[in-house]
Amino acid sequence: MVVAGGGIGGLAVALALARRNFRVVVLEQAAEFGEIGAGIQLAPNAWHAIDALGVGELVKKEAVFIERLLMMDGVSGETVIDIPLDERLEHEYSPLRHTDRIRCPVTVAWAEKESAEFARQSREFAEKLRAPTHIGNGMNHFEIIETLADARSPLARTALEMIA
Ligand SMILES: Cc1cc2nc3c(=O)[nH]c(=O)nc-3n(C[C@H](O)[C@H](O)[C@H](O)COP(=O)(O)OP(=O)(O)OC[C@H]3O[C@@H](n4cnc5c(N)ncnc54)[C@H](O)[C@@H]3O)c2cc1C
Repeated sequence: MVVAGGGIGGLAVALALARRNFRVVVLEQAAEFGEIGAGIQLAPNAWHAIDALGVGELVKKEAVFIERLLMMDGVSGETVIDIPLDERLEHEYSPLRHTDRIRCPVTVAWAEKESAEFARQSREFAEKLRAPTHIGNGMNHFEIIETLADARSPLARTALEMIA
């Protein structure tokens, strides 16, 4: 297979194909790769994709993990958003670390087609809460949520039983 362009998209496709034993040739028009801009910010879901390609650890070795997200007005220099991304914030927003605050009945539901990481976090959350689980067979993240609109669906029945 021939992939035209050795940007992040082309290289990701080439790697995914190669991992499935396809012979891949990447054709890049530029004479050499160089840095453009300051870097690429990767959100948590992008890390799932990089992990799935099997290069997560390699990329992490070169990555800089930021401690703060600061957005400023380019004209006035005024701070628009300032979000610390430190241990304290991670602790504060981690549901797994605050299960003692949960007093209502809980069923932890996820879909069969979630990413392995999402499924792992869901399982760990359920184990910590000792809550029953519900897995939407053959569904993705959005399809399982949509089943709540049908009162006869297994997940909606579970939710209604918890309310009753
Ligand atoms: C300054 C700057 C900062 C950015 N910062 C961020 C950021 O912080 N976070 C983020 O997520 N995104 C950021 N982006 C966007 C991100 O870099 C791009 O979305 C991403 O790199 C696009 O990847 P791509 O593989 O689709 O395309 P490209 O990186 O453009 O790759 C396409 C490649 O194909 C080659 N090519 C084109 N035509 C041919 C041809 N006919 N034959 C052979 N080769 C060909 C090109 O030379 C190029 O190498 C930034 C972009 C810029 C410019």
